[in-house]
Amino acid sequence: MIESMQHKLQIIPIPAFKDNYIWLLHNGTKAVIVDPGDAAPVIATLNQLSLSLSAILVTHHHHDHIGGVSTLLKHYSNAAIYAPRYENYNFKHHPVSEPNTVSLPEFGLDFSVIDLPGHTLGHIAYYSPDILFCGDTLFGAGCGRLFEGTPEQMFNSLKKLADLPPTTKVYCTHEYTLHNINFALFLEPNNTDLLQRKYDTEKLRHASEPSLPSTLILELATNPFLRCTNPEILLSLQLGNIPPLEVFKTIREMRNHY
Ligand code: ZN
Ligand code: FE
Repeated sequence: MIESMQHKLQIIPIPAFKDNYIWLLHNGTKAVIVDPGDAAPVIATLNQLSLSLSAILVTHHHHDHIGGVSTLLKHYSNAAIYAPRYENYNFKHHPVSEPNTVSLPEFGLDFSVIDLPGHTLGHIAYYSPDILFCGDTLFGAGCGRLFEGTPEQMFNSLKKLADLPPTTKVYCTHEYTLHNINFALFLEPNNTDLLQRKYDTEKLRHASEPSLPSTLILELATNPFLRCTNPEILLSLQLGNIPPLEVFKTIREMRNHY
């Protein structure tokens, strides 16, 4: 058995800025970082845990997800960087999109790249069974804003994620869960899974614990953006029997002002 396989993989959040999480995956000696918006907290964590940096995975081009890349590269010049093929970056990287795979043999992991246009046009996720790094596409009980894509693109991107195995752990990059839950309860006040999630999330947040990762099964039960055919949501909107895409458009727009 090779040395790195003896350690169980761990995935921990590094808080950054006001509400970002930079996810760190490690095997006890080597680490992969997802969406490093800031270098300082990443370097501090790597030093503290005596980890070297093998790779950086980037989901999209927003500054709060890539702001730390150049500084990290200065410290760890051997780190491989993967970033969306259909976006422009001023650091050296491997451009990836569907149907590419990012192989990380040191961790025993192969990540499939999933194209998720919507929040940005080139946005991608990295998926390996039971691990989903989904950037700003899927949030706890919510979804990302439409900065570049159309509602239809985002709707289809979320559908792709909803079709992954329900046991998938969802590593989102922002702590928006509680606010999203309150919005979701406005649409589905009688959803008992949602009420339970609010209780659980409040408990975590009062203890300054992250609400993430969540699981796809929890998102399917509580995230209104994955529940656009739900009768209670339709009833709350009072727009009649509109199609799921129209439900999505309407609630995404409402959430912008919530
Ligand atoms: Zn973003
Ligand atoms: Fe972001």
